[in-house]
Amino acid sequence: MATCPSCGRYVGPTDAGTCSYCGARLTGRMTLRALKIGALGLAVLGLILLWWFATRSPVPMLKIGQAQALTLDVMDVASRAAAQTQASQEEMIQSNVG
Ligand SMILES: [Zn+2]
Repeated sequence: MATCPSCGRYVGPTDAGTCSYCGARLTGRMTLRALKIGALGLAVLGLILLWWFATRSPVPMLKIGQAQALTLDVMDVASRAAAQTQASQEEMIQSNVG
């Protein structure tokens, strides 16, 4: 409820428990203080969850020889993708010409 029940004007979230226009008491509203504390709590909870998942995810172990093989595999995949792209481009050119 962001409007005053007495004068009907928009009051928004305020720390004061009264309407700033007519002075009527505002009940059943979420105060700005509660909103701030809730946002801070949610942020801290998110950080704790991130930390929890980050510390519990296993780090893959690689030997130096495996790392080199992996690099070669990546290079192979990249060159294959480049060749495929070139082939499909030539195919397109041929279909456009023919
Ligand atoms: Zn009011």
